[in-house]
Amino acid sequence: MLSPLPRLPWAVRNEITNLYEALDAQLRILEATCRACGDCCDLNRFGHELWLSNLELAYLLDSAKPGSTPADGVCPYRLDGKCTARVGRALGCRVFHCNLDAASMESITEAYLEKMKKIATAHGIDVEYGELISSLSNYMAQPG
Ligand code: SF4
Ligand code: SF4
Repeated sequence: MLSPLPRLPWAVRNEITNLYEALDAQLRILEATCRACGDCCDLNRFGHELWLSNLELAYLLDSAKPGSTPADGVCPYRLDGKCTARVGRALGCRVFHCNLDAASMESITEAYLEKMKKIATAHGIDVEYGELISSLSNYMAQPG
């Protein structure tokens, strides 16, 4: 479980934005498609476990606040089956596509996690990882 970093400095946010844009472009080249059914965001039922770094969590929370406390393993950003955090969603959310094979997704994830680590190191941030739902639950339980 992660505790979110304080609001990210602009320079770090900018680098993560560029990283996500490059990732999204690479996924388009691979013809990753999504019909936005929201099934994979019902994590428990889908058998999907999403982990993210503290940078990704801070970026996600900067871009949108969860609509509710996570319940039954459903991501609290999922509303009426749709993701309400498309802009800031984490690496794992961006990479997962039902029409891509597991090996491709794994290698893309590893490559972009390395790039994310380099951003953190360049800005003196220690990288930590946590599971998405428990980290968001922890965030929602915090006062203020
Ligand atoms: S990746 Fe697949 S399961 Fe997930 S929202 Fe898109 S179509 Fe649905
Ligand atoms: S952040 Fe969006 S894409 Fe990721 S699990 Fe939640 S609803 Fe799905």
